[in-house]
Amino acid sequence: MVAFTAPSVARSQHVARCLGKRSSAVPRRPLRRTAPATTCASKSPASTSGRDPLPSVLIIHTGGTLGMQTEAFDEPEKLQSSVQGAVVFKEGTGGDYTKTLQPGKLLQNLVTTVPELQTFANLEVKVLMNKDSCQIGPKQWIRMAQELHTRRDEFDAFVIVHGTDTMAYTASALSLMLSGFAKPIIVTGSQLPLSMPRSDARQNLIDTITCATAGFSAPHIQLEEVALCFGGVLLRGNRARKTSATIYSAFDSPTYPPLARLGVGVEWRRRALLQYEDTDGVAYTKRAYTPRLKLDPNVIRLPIVPGCDPKKVYGDLYARGVRGIVLEAFGVGNMPWTKETGWIPWLRSQRKQGMVIYLTSQCESGELHPELYRTGSLALELGAVSGPMMTPECAVVKLMLCLAHPNLPLAEPIAGEL
Ligand code: ASP
Repeated sequence: MVAFTAPSVARSQHVARCLGKRSSAVPRRPLRRTAPATTCASKSPASTSGRDPLPSVLIIHTGGTLGMQTEAFDEPEKLQSSVQGAVVFKEGTGGDYTKTLQPGKLLQNLVTTVPELQTFANLEVKVLMNKDSCQIGPKQWIRMAQELHTRRDEFDAFVIVHGTDTMAYTASALSLMLSGFAKPIIVTGSQLPLSMPRSDARQNLIDTITCATAGFSAPHIQLEEVALCFGGVLLRGNRARKTSATIYSAFDSPTYPPLARLGVGVEWRRRALLQYEDTDGVAYTKRAYTPRLKLDPNVIRLPIVPGCDPKKVYGDLYARGVRGIVLEAFGVGNMPWTKETGWIPWLRSQRKQGMVIYLTSQCESGELHPELYRTGSLALELGAVSGPMMTPECAVVKLMLCLAHPNLPLAEPIAGEL
């Protein structure tokens, strides 16, 4: 773990440029500034000069493209496979290289390449893991959630650096596992490594830290949820989806408006934020912090394909250890009822054994109404659960969480996911 204390260099000028004038006025709800972590080597210049100390932010590195070295792209290795002319990233640059990536080096890289970060906060970096995000799943989500849970009182805000491929799953997982955490946790990453020209990493990091520390300067936005910041938008973490493999605006939130848009200024959509206190009559959820640190990973996403017979194609999933299915039906929750395809008998046999089924849609947005069609209502009668639409990423994680915490109903919203 490495701590970095922000110098005062050009703080006010820079911040004024980035955010509009920052005010030293007391926030609407005075935010409790958390003392820098004990590993912090020196005192913040702000605190020694009588100014309000900067907020403290823990950057948790988990891997992905942002921290990759450019050699990965310069001298790609030939793939030892039958794929002619294929190349892969060099080992130690794009893969699992926890041993070679030191937090000190990473922090130094961050503050050298993006010195503005220090004007927003006292930073501390933890390299929790260093994985391509396709290697991240329930085990790693639990590690991240545990780290955040243990360090909750030490920092004002948290940033998770993560690969883009499964970022939406991780954001969903953290939001559900740490429901009521009530401090900003922002997940970000980039399409190109920080060290490359034209990388989007710099902007994404600055945008992320801007949002993570927004409670500490005017207009004092209290972000109390897990969000995903990428390509100029801040999205609710459990509503986000990766929609492009290549463009910089790689994420979207088809069922929920962005929490903020970051352009020349930062346009916050206050009413869209998850509220834990009644501020100015804005709708709020009063919910105590409830960490749930267990997940049952035996969950699959199962799209209904026209003409496919589930008995033949999927067989007895329960007998093979699957305990939850996110069933992706058509439209409002419809599925075929021909004899050959037999979805209802198959669902019945799975339900009888104890399978939990969450019925959702292959559509990205709109409302679910499985009761409007014969098979949809039969599925509900069998005990499939449906409700306001969750993203498939969020639905699988919620199912994992509910299976591990049987008293938590799938249909109960715990982090703005429904
Ligand atoms: N494969 C990378 C990952 O998700 C892609 C990225 O970071 O953009 O880890």
